[in-house]
Amino acid sequence: MFIEPNIKNRKSGWIEVVCGSMFSGKTEELIRRLKRAQFSQHSVAIFKPATDNRYHESDIVSHDGVRIKSMAVAKAEDILNKTEDIDVVGIDEVQFFDMDIVKVVQELALKQTRVICAGLDMDFNKNGFGPMPELLAQADYVTKVHAICSVCGDMANYSYRKTASKETVVLGEKDVYEPRCRSCFERDDKKQGVIF
Ligand SMILES: [Zn+2]
Repeated sequence: MFIEPNIKNRKSGWIEVVCGSMFSGKTEELIRRLKRAQFSQHSVAIFKPATDNRYHESDIVSHDGVRIKSMAVAKAEDILNKTEDIDVVGIDEVQFFDMDIVKVVQELALKQTRVICAGLDMDFNKNGFGPMPELLAQADYVTKVHAICSVCGDMANYSYRKTASKETVVLGEKDVYEPRCRSCFERDDKKQGVIF
């Protein structure tokens, strides 16, 4: 269990990264941390990459009525000028931003912002996803969460794509992906002729 460091008496903020495969509970963990920050009187906001290049704003409302402002942004720099009065910044689906996100989170942390990023550590080929390897290297705190293998029930680290597409980004949920453990991922990937 992640224990939040105390932001009081610190000269700078810090960077937390929550990573894992699809269906591992990354976003739930991000929201859990943001809600706790809100309960302790910090201002919080969630950002995510816009899929349609348009900025839009909405609130995420959880079961207990907590509202967190959620904003979709076209590029990483957009986060900087929307966070002047925000103590704790959450960034969901962070793997879809380009490498500029690394500079942005470092700049926020230097300005005494607590930054919590959540994203896929690996793509469907088990390669580091976009800026994630660098974000994990730069982070002060890293949490890896795990899904359950949909084949055997073991702990799962990988997002297995059920379709034949070789594109890195294919949007979809349970229709396209399922979580798999190391053994179940490799067994069926070899069947499909993927060379390791
Ligand atoms: Zn398995």
